[in-house]
Amino acid sequence: MKKLVILGAGTGGTLIANKLRKKLPSAQWQITIVDKEPDHVYQPGFLFIPFGIYESRQVVKPRKKFIPAGVQYIESVIEKVNPATNIVELANGTQLTYDYLIVATGVDIAPYETPGLAGAEWHKSIFDFYTLEGATRLQTALSNFKEGNLVISIVELPFKCPVAPLEFAFLADSYLRKKGIREKVNIFYTTPLPGAFTKPKATKILGELLEKKGIQLIPDFNIEEVDNSDKKLVSYDGRTVPFDLLTIIPVNMGAEYIGRSGMGDDMNFVPTNKHTLQSVQWENVFVLGDAANIPTSKAGSVVHFAAEILYENFLYAIEGKPLTASFDGHANCFIVTGIGEGTLIDFNYDVEPLPGSFPLPVIGPMKLLKINRLNYLGKMAFKWAYWNLLIKGRHMPISTKMSMSGKETD
Ligand SMILES: Cc1cc2nc3c(=O)[nH]c(=O)nc-3n(C[C@H](O)[C@H](O)[C@H](O)COP(=O)(O)OP(=O)(O)OC[C@H]3O[C@@H](n4cnc5c(N)ncnc54)[C@H](O)[C@@H]3O)c2cc1C
Repeated sequence: MKKLVILGAGTGGTLIANKLRKKLPSAQWQITIVDKEPDHVYQPGFLFIPFGIYESRQVVKPRKKFIPAGVQYIESVIEKVNPATNIVELANGTQLTYDYLIVATGVDIAPYETPGLAGAEWHKSIFDFYTLEGATRLQTALSNFKEGNLVISIVELPFKCPVAPLEFAFLADSYLRKKGIREKVNIFYTTPLPGAFTKPKATKILGELLEKKGIQLIPDFNIEEVDNSDKKLVSYDGRTVPFDLLTIIPVNMGAEYIGRSGMGDDMNFVPTNKHTLQSVQWENVFVLGDAANIPTSKAGSVVHFAAEILYENFLYAIEGKPLTASFDGHANCFIVTGIGEGTLIDFNYDVEPLPGSFPLPVIGPMKLLKINRLNYLGKMAFKWAYWNLLIKGRHMPISTKMSMSGKETD
């Protein structure tokens, strides 16, 4: 009996467990999946909780519901992997041996990495929305917020869902307008980037949108410290931004056991071949999703496309064939630009987000880098697709490879 162990039962781990269980004969392959938390969370839904658009019950479901029959599920913290001897050590004392390992333990926020961030004001006037707890507490803080400086800040790149802080800023603008207090609130957006986003065309459009909505962009802002007593952000070059309410994207890091196991870089991301999705160090280890150090967005859509490639290459690997499936870094993200409106970007390792029609030329029906209601509805419909199709490993009507069809190149 061959043994496959999957570490992490979030988006990627659950998806690949479902796909591989359907393919690998149970008499020949034992599949085990490990996660530390009993619940599966739909993380894109965290964005909407602070504004009362979603409640926590809409983004949380019992994890076991999505683990397929025939896959052994263990709930425990992963302590360490020994890739030289093919052993995983769990906090509950279990040792798992494997023939193949898939690492899918994602990334988590690490507020303690920034001086002062996890200090006295944490969860008082400083909140994240990358955890269910943070998003829920922020909902209360926002509903009590009447006036002053609302600051949205990114500490460092990379972080998961690179558009999420922009979406938060746009939603905050809509939310405060609806409450009739927008003119009493200054919204600031600080980023270490030179502009609103990473690639030129999207940066221009999203930067203009921030300006149109009266959200002040503060670029090249690298946070050195959060001053809790004066409630201000301090950058390395000495600039300060005072806040009454701070929404922050702390440093994102891979799981601690990756570091303990000597499998990661200084951020605990696992060095991974960006095309084959195999570990660069160990042939029997594959890496799926945010845990990998590949140069594309850390996003659920990327996990979905990467899983299709990893699935193919995994099947080649166990047959001793060359890994010929190649991941192109495809990412596809709806961006909410306010309550009821959104835009869409589609890109990969080589092609930046471009305007045009998606998925079909001319008729779309989605429009890339254009703001409309359909793109907002697409974002909201994704929750259903996530719970019912994506993590169950079912077919999603979107191509794994990015297509140039419909994209405007000049
Ligand atoms: C606010 C927010 C908005 C987002 N919006 C979007 C969006 O609009 N579109 C999009 O495509 N993506 C979005 N994302 C990103 C998307 O949710 C992630 O990229 C995706 O879930 C990553 O999947 P993963 O399998 O790599 O990791 P995860 O889904 O995070 O799963 C990792 C799993 O590993 C487990 N784990 C970690 N360490 C251990 C350990 N030591 N022991 C045991 N288990 C462990 C965790 O409990 C977790 O279940 C958003 C994310 C956030 C936070």
